[in-house]
Amino acid sequence: CGIVGYIGHREAYPIIIEGLKRLEYRGYDSAGIALFDGTDLKVSKTKGKVLDLENRVSSEISTNANLGIGHTRWATHGVPNDINAHPHYSNSGNLVIIHNGIIENYDSLKKELITRGYTFKSDTDTEVLINLIEDVKLKENVKLGKAVQIALNQVVGAYSIAVFDKNKPDEIVIARLGSPLAVGIGDDEFFIASDASPFIEYTKNAVYLEDEEMAIIRVNKGIKIRKIKDDTLVDPYVQELQMNLEQ
Ligand code: GLU
Repeated sequence: CGIVGYIGHREAYPIIIEGLKRLEYRGYDSAGIALFDGTDLKVSKTKGKVLDLENRVSSEISTNANLGIGHTRWATHGVPNDINAHPHYSNSGNLVIIHNGIIENYDSLKKELITRGYTFKSDTDTEVLINLIEDVKLKENVKLGKAVQIALNQVVGAYSIAVFDKNKPDEIVIARLGSPLAVGIGDDEFFIASDASPFIEYTKNAVYLEDEEMAIIRVNKGIKIRKIKDDTLVDPYVQELQMNLEQ
C-alpha cells in the first residue's frame, strides 16, 4: 500500500501516477487519485492495478491540477472494490483523504457519527476518519490542521494520511503513526510519499515524519511539523537524499 501527493506549480497527475507505480512493490489491491485544480475536484478509483486506474483516468480526468493525492490500498476494512478504494470524502464533499493503516476504534466512532447524522458510502475505517475530522472541524470551528490533530487524538490505530480541503487549495495536511511518510521539498512545491522513490527525480531534499507527528504543508509558506499529542512544534530536519534509495 502507498501514498503519493503533490502540491505546487507542476501538473500533479503524472507525478502521482508514476509515483504510485514506484510504490507498487509494497503490495495493494486497489488504486485511486484525487486531483484538484482549485475549482473542480476529480476523483477516480478502481479495484485492480495502477495501470487500470490510468486507463480509466485518461478518459475522464482533465489533468491541469496542481494539487493531487494518490493511493494504493491494501484492504483491511471492507472488501477490495471500487467504492472502498481511496480517496474518500467527508459528507460535505469538501474534505478528501487517503490513508494507509487501520483505525481500530472505527466502529464506535462510526456509531457516534451516525447518531450525529453522518452517512457512509463505503465499509472502510478511513471514511469514518474523514467524517470525524469534518465533525471536529465544524463543531470546534477550527482549521483543517487543528481538526486533523483533534480527531487523531481520538483514534486508536496506525496510519499515514494525507488530507486536503476543497476550500483550501494551497494546503495538504499529513500525519503518521506506524506507516512511513516522506516529504520532498522543492521550490515552492512539495511531494509526499510513503518513501522517497516517487520524488527523487524532482528534489534531493526530504523530511521524514516521525511517528506521532503531523505536518501542514502550504505552497509559499512551507512545512510546519507538530507532535500530534501535545502540539509541540518540531523543527523540520531536511535530509539530502542519496541516489541509492534502499532504506
Ligand atoms: N484501512 C484502510 C482500508 O481498508 C486502509 C488500508 C491500507 O493500508 O491501504 O481501506
